[in-house]
Amino acid sequence: MDPRLDGQTLKTSLSALLDLVLPRVCVVCGRPLLPQEEHLCLGCLADLPETRYATLGHNPMADRFNARIQVDEFEPYAYAAALYHYRADAGYKRISQALKYYRDFGAGRWAARLLGARLAASPLYADVDLVVPVPLHWLRRRQRGYNQAAVIAREVARALGAPLAPRLLCRVRRTRSQAHLAGEAKAANVAGAFALRAARLPAARHILLVDDVFTTGATLAACHRALRRAYGAQVRISVATLGAVGE
Ligand SMILES: [Zn+2]
Repeated sequence: MDPRLDGQTLKTSLSALLDLVLPRVCVVCGRPLLPQEEHLCLGCLADLPETRYATLGHNPMADRFNARIQVDEFEPYAYAAALYHYRADAGYKRISQALKYYRDFGAGRWAARLLGARLAASPLYADVDLVVPVPLHWLRRRQRGYNQAAVIAREVARALGAPLAPRLLCRVRRTRSQAHLAGEAKAANVAGAFALRAARLPAARHILLVDDVFTTGATLAACHRALRRAYGAQVRISVATLGAVGE
């Protein structure tokens, strides 16, 4: 062995060897990854369609979310941010799909850390003091073995230095999969499906609700309503997701 072989070279050689046995591929385009690439190839990483919503108090995702929550009572304009634009015809959707359907925690956590970094760099989210994932019904969680929103929320909470409350919200009613429902059917499907489990609420001034993908915002709005009821008018409630559909 070359005596100059240092730890980094050895690590690179080992991962190159592993790549031969068990090829790692780009989660977006499927191309085999180079030893120095992780989860995404450099080309897909460079083209990641970031939303930059974390720096914008008003943005298309926030407008759509606020249209849902600002209905009957006075509700302050909520902040909303996603890491990237989720499009059905683009490979980037596979980042959240890998986490949700294929147990690929690596790519999901990587994207969640990037989302966390964007939020941590924004003054809008600087005072977040509680991170709450959108829950799965316990039966679905048992089938899947984990809640993908909680996996994302954990990384986001770490990046923000805020406590995580993974079990604060629970689904009291099992809902049909939202994937095949359209527009208002989604809102009706999840209305009243969420409740707070805690007998004593964790203290919070600014709660961040986290999910994997923002589509119509119906699920997040239903969670928002449950939190608002429990915490009252003084607490700010924002939302963050990996992907955002539209715009
Ligand atoms: Zn790629």
